[in-house]
Amino acid sequence: MSQLTIALTKGRILQETLPLLAAAGIAPLEDISKSRKLAFETSVDNVRLLILRGSDVPTYVQFGAADMGVSGKDTLLEHGGDGLYSLVDLGIARCKLMTAAIKGVPEKTGRIKVATKYVNVARRFYAEKGRQADIIKLYGAMELAPIMNLADEIVDIVDTGNTLKANGLESRLEIANISSCLIANKASMKMKHKLMQPLIDAITDAVSAKAS
Ligand code: AMP
Repeated sequence: MSQLTIALTKGRILQETLPLLAAAGIAPLEDISKSRKLAFETSVDNVRLLILRGSDVPTYVQFGAADMGVSGKDTLLEHGGDGLYSLVDLGIARCKLMTAAIKGVPEKTGRIKVATKYVNVARRFYAEKGRQADIIKLYGAMELAPIMNLADEIVDIVDTGNTLKANGLESRLEIANISSCLIANKASMKMKHKLMQPLIDAITDAVSAKAS
């Protein structure tokens, strides 16, 4: 029987994904949080879970190393979505992708420096606004960049806003509303349709049941 591989995003998205998968009848055979393993068999014989860094999930799915995945829209926007379908908005891990700057500092005119891990999103956003921006790639602790004068603004995820506030920053413009999506490899959708469709239906039902 052919295998189905689902790539999951570790961290807070995983915590919200597992109950949805459980409601759809898929449970890992081991406690993921207590293991250093990266691949897990599940209660469904031919379904396997991979636990990945968020930005790697669309890549695994794009190239068919995973048939399906759960990925934040922020990560999908940054990836561009080549080779994959976004199937279902799971309504989990909601937050916003925003620009932010030092609280009270007026918006800089002219060319600005923007620090972010979302370089593609930022480039598109500032270009669409007709603003000249030098985008600086960072891998974490974006909030430090304006304080240390590395950048005028950052582009980052905002949930409660506590991280910005704790670092003397404030959100400015909203770029996108974010939640996590079920995604699938385009070729897998054709070749493994019979295997995938019941699973997609079960996950869709679990999302609707949770929302109602
Ligand atoms: P907060 O302080 O609640 O605004 O959370 C902001 C930080 O938490 C951001 O810097 C993100 O790294 C992280 N974060 C919050 N929500 C999410 C999410 N849904 N997906 C990914 N990262 C998140």
